[in-house]
Amino acid sequence: MKVLVIGGGAREHALCRSLSLDPDVTALHCAPGNAGIAEVAELHQVNALDGTAVAELAGTLGVDLVVVGPEAPLVAGVADTVRDRGIPCFGPSAAAARLEGSKAFAKDVMAAAGVPTARAYVCVNAAEVDEALDAFGPPYVVKDDGLAAGKGVVVTSDPAAARAHALACDRVVIEEFLDGPEVSLFAITDGETVLPLQPAQDFKRAYDGDEGPNTGGMGAYSPLPWADPKLVDEVLTTVLQPTVDELRRRGTPFAGLLYAGLAITSRGVRVIEFNARFGDPETQVVLARLKTPLASVLLRAATGTLEMEPPLRWSDGAAVTVVIASHNYPGTPRTGDPITGLTEAAGRDKTYVLHAGTKLSETGDIVSAGGRVLSVTATGSNLAKARGRAYDAVKLIELDGSHHRTDIAARAADPE
Ligand code: AMP
Repeated sequence: MKVLVIGGGAREHALCRSLSLDPDVTALHCAPGNAGIAEVAELHQVNALDGTAVAELAGTLGVDLVVVGPEAPLVAGVADTVRDRGIPCFGPSAAAARLEGSKAFAKDVMAAAGVPTARAYVCVNAAEVDEALDAFGPPYVVKDDGLAAGKGVVVTSDPAAARAHALACDRVVIEEFLDGPEVSLFAITDGETVLPLQPAQDFKRAYDGDEGPNTGGMGAYSPLPWADPKLVDEVLTTVLQPTVDELRRRGTPFAGLLYAGLAITSRGVRVIEFNARFGDPETQVVLARLKTPLASVLLRAATGTLEMEPPLRWSDGAAVTVVIASHNYPGTPRTGDPITGLTEAAGRDKTYVLHAGTKLSETGDIVSAGGRVLSVTATGSNLAKARGRAYDAVKLIELDGSHHRTDIAARAADPE
């Protein structure tokens, strides 16, 4: 099977790594990729948001499957354009990707499907904003209706800050605060059959102890030793399957990766958000534990034959990923700094380094090229071992001014 992956972050590196280890995959391409992906796939410089260019590349390369990583191309309809060319594509249509692209649309689908989520108001003017903020009280949860790369959500107890964020959005969702640990659960679906993956937890805040600003994600781990073993079955029945069924009923079936961001509250599981693609950095740890070769599962989801897929096989062990971010991330990151120690880190047992914002400089060195630069990933028979390996490798990597969290999976690995 020849596969083309669209995107260039650590998530796509994780996808490319898994695909490169799949004996069915005879050729692996990625556009645009990054310096790490270049080691496992052939890179192509194509604008990921340009559906026609992506479809043309897929046609020229004669690939059997296109896998779209990030949300922006999905919302822009890249998967539709590829499928219109008759090429199977893993990733939902633009119509189905609205589940991520519009928080208000997601709320409407959840209401119709009876999926448990925070009560919410969709507001379009100051009077509605004030009414909604008053109705819920602090802490306030204010979400820009559109795509904002994980940065459109403000959770604050300061009414002035909540109001200011709300008024800066054209359309805003103001919702009830959900208290409880968060879980990310991914499912692969062809629009009908839903195959849940293993749950993971990510760390959204920039600094240790969940301090500092929100980021795209600073680390993740899987499995979740503290979670109810019935969680996946429960979420399949109450969240994933009803959502997939509702989108099919509306004539816009969702085929691809359905990501449920969940809060485990004292009143039960509630959906915080849906995403229409693999999450970053959770993908790094979920795929690290998946034993089933990935390509045929993705192809079956892309071709409506997922019911033929046998149950997925998982490692009983654990995986931990630690993100190394550039100086000043999540503000405007400094880029162009050389990165050293990559070979030493990746050479360690059960450890690998997934690249995000990296590129090859003109002198052939690997330099930083974005906010989140690397996802240092390790596996082990339990979380403590995986965590120890990941941090041992992080110590070997040098990137001037960079920062990372030191508490990824700490509590789960060593509950007091
Ligand atoms: P989202 O982009 O919707 O995932 O929101 C980003 C982060 O904001 C989530 O991971 C949560 O930590 C937080 N958040 C979003 N919605 C809520 C909510 N209703 N209650 C509490 N925290 C929330």
